[in-house]
Parts: sequence; structure tokens; C-alpha cells
Amino acid sequence: MKVLAEKAVVVGTGLIGASLASAAKQAGVFARVSGVGRSEANLQAALSAGHVDVVTTRLDEALDGADLVVLAVPVDTAVALLPEVVEATGESCLLTDVGSVKTPICEAAVAAGAAARFVGAHPMAGGTDSGAVHADPDLFRGRVAVVTPTPETDAAGIEVVERLWQALGSRVVTMGSREHDATVAVTSHLPQLLATCLAETATRCDDRGHLEELIAGGFRDTSRLAASDVAMWASIVDLNSEAIVEAMDAFTAGWERLRAAIEAGDAAAVESILTAGCSMRESIGK
Ligand code: NAP
Repeated sequence: MKVLAEKAVVVGTGLIGASLASAAKQAGVFARVSGVGRSEANLQAALSAGHVDVVTTRLDEALDGADLVVLAVPVDTAVALLPEVVEATGESCLLTDVGSVKTPICEAAVAAGAAARFVGAHPMAGGTDSGAVHADPDLFRGRVAVVTPTPETDAAGIEVVERLWQALGSRVVTMGSREHDATVAVTSHLPQLLATCLAETATRCDDRGHLEELIAGGFRDTSRLAASDVAMWASIVDLNSEAIVEAMDAFTAGWERLRAAIEAGDAAAVESILTAGCSMRESIGK
């Protein structure tokens, strides 16, 4: 496959960053990859597994001579680091990211004067584990990667980022950052917060002392996401709060409708809501 970057820099060699670096090296689209991070332990894990070629805690040092930079740090950190990355790289260096919220980073690129060479991206893949030790070059295979260019983004840069995700085995879907953020508020952020709330509710409902003994598949499956990284999700919630509150309101309306039907003993209304949920879940497959 054609090399897309002679010197790529992945800032944040955690689950997503190290997986991306590894897959891009394997696919032959990154000739050489530098990994940037804070903790030596995580950087060494990325290096010893061969996900990256060289590691450093010095961002400025890594950026020297880069032709493609991927920000794979928590979303608030990416927004904070972007001006420094813009400043330290040449006009021909393409900038992208993998963050779960897209509007703030796209706006930060515009504010830093780098809208033309910044292409936001978000792989619809991942998990609740963090760090390079969990990285997997096949993580993005068969998944969707959303690409969110701004109206000012160069077409050539968009094409490189789309080709990168295709090389990792993903199907690229292109849309505006606001459309992305409103949609993932429903498909990703709401499920996370529902899992969190379910697990938290259980901590307040153990009057009889048997709660843990009676936890089986349903609770485990539905609360799985509650174990996700707290700091990462706190920054996602903060940066997508408006769309998340809208999704929560839509959920609350449905929840209250269901509660009222149960309270009123309206079996037909309960069945109709169960049927609507069942058909939607069946339509998306396993
Ligand atoms: P992760 O495994 O915790 O990795 C984050 C990495 O960022 C860590 O290696 C951390 O390094 C590094 N980092 C944090 N602050 C830094 C800084 N100031 N300078 C340099 N490195 C820094 O998290 P992740 O799951 O890969 O998430 C990374 C991004 O991917 C986030 O923006 C998230 O929204 C997005 N994303 C996640 C998923 C998912 O399911 N996990 C899916 C799609 C997109 P240290 O270990 O040294 O602190």
C-alpha cells in the first residue's frame, strides 16, 4: 500500500493511538511512527510491542520533521495541545485526531489558523480498557471511521485521512462535526451514562444484602460500560454537554412514558414500548 506518511507522530499511545500506529505500520501506510506520552511505562509498552518505532515524552522533539500528526489523547487534552502542535509543525504537515467529540477540536483548528490542514476523525471502535498493553492492530477492521472536515479543509488532506482509515480496514463515513456530536450523543454517550447510572443505582438498592449474589447476565451486559475510564468520559461529557442533555431528555421522555404505563397497569402500552425497542435492537443485528 502507498505510504501516506514518512514520519507520523501519534500523541497518546494508549488503546486507540497504539492500535492505530500498529495497524498503520502493518498496512505500510506509516513508514516510521513516533509515540508521544507522559508515562514511561505506557510508552515502553507501546515500543516493546512494536506498535511504534520510537517513543518520547517531549512533544516538541517528536514533532520535528513530522508530515502527519495524530492526536490520540483525551478530548480536552487534544483541544489544549492543538495550538502547540500547529505552532511546531510546518504548513505541509497534516493534523488529525481520534477524539469522541468533534466540534471543539474542529473549532480549535480554525482558531489556531490550521483549518486547511486539520481533518477530524473518530473511529467507532474501542473498549473499556486503556493503555498500550490493550492495543490491537485489528481494532478498526470492519468498523466505521467518521471523518469530519471543516468547509476550509484541503481536499488532499481529507483524502489522505480517508485512505488511512480504509487502510486500517474501516469504512469511512464523512459528516459535519455537529451532526457527528449529536448522533454519538445517542449511540455512544447515552449508553455510557445509562450504564453508569444503572451501576450507581444498584449501590443504593441493596437493603436486603443479596444484590451481588443475584447479579447475572442482564446486569453485567447492561452495566459493562460503567467500568470505562472515568477521566476520559468526564472530558467527553464536558465537551458534548448540549447534545448529551438533548439525548438524555429524549430518553427521559420514553422512560416516563414507560413508567406511567407500568404504574397505570396499561399492559398494551407496555407491550407496545417493549415491541418498539425489540424491533429496533433486532434491526441492527448482533
Ligand atoms: P487511553 O488508552 O487512556 O490513552 C490515552 C493516552 O493519552 C495515554 O496513553 C496517555 O498517556 C496519553 N496522554 C494523556 N494526556 C497526555 C498528554 N498531555 N500528553 C501526551 N500524552 C497524553 O485512551 P483511549 O481510549 O486510547 O482514548 C484516546 C482518545 O480516543 C480519546 O480522545 C477518546 O475520546 C478516543 N476514543 C476512544 C475510544 C474508546 O473506546 N476507548 C473509541 C474511540 C475514540 P499516559 O498513559 O502516559 O498518561
